[in-house]
Amino acid sequence: MEFILDWDGTVTERDTLLLALQHFVDPAVLDPIEAELDAGLAAGTITHREVMEREFSLLTVPMPDVVAFLVEKVRVRPGFAAFAERFDPLILSSSFHETIEPILAREGVTARVRANRVDPRHDGWRIRWIADSDCATCGEPCKRASLPAGALTYVGDGYSDRCAALAADRVFARDGLARYLDAEQRRYEPFTDFSQLTAALASREV
Ligand SMILES: [Mg+2]
Ligand SMILES: [Zn+2]
Repeated sequence: MEFILDWDGTVTERDTLLLALQHFVDPAVLDPIEAELDAGLAAGTITHREVMEREFSLLTVPMPDVVAFLVEKVRVRPGFAAFAERFDPLILSSSFHETIEPILAREGVTARVRANRVDPRHDGWRIRWIADSDCATCGEPCKRASLPAGALTYVGDGYSDRCAALAADRVFARDGLARYLDAEQRRYEPFTDFSQLTAALASREV
């Protein structure tokens, strides 16, 4: 059984990309755009890809500034390092290698990462997408295309996890992903942190 972990809001306690946007973009600019994008995503009039592209076009600071801020601020959920050591999970994220890997290094964790990359241009960051073709199931370039073959346990919290979670054999979910799976009447188990997850896995093994 292979473990697939979302990064933002799943491994990390808060969404790292949102933290960066809220720190480096003027709220007078960011807040109305975020409200518009959230409404569009909920109504299905805008794709998750378009949301991310619009958000990151607002970011104009150099990558080292953002990495330094994130390495100082971001917290990972309890038990992550021990979980990674024991289960060798794949981190599958729609955020960026450039912002994920320095936090893994801080935690002393070596883990496989499949994520997007970003060109941090001073006139607005440009995302370099890992998946550039639309998914046959959800119609967006989503995480499902990056899932490995075989039996999967998926751990996630948000919008970008929906399609991939539906393809997994077992799902641990929190927050928006849990509400989505409730609405879809799909089975999942609650996820709070990696100590709880490890205990839940152990209780099923006996
Ligand atoms: Mg997430
Ligand atoms: Zn999909």
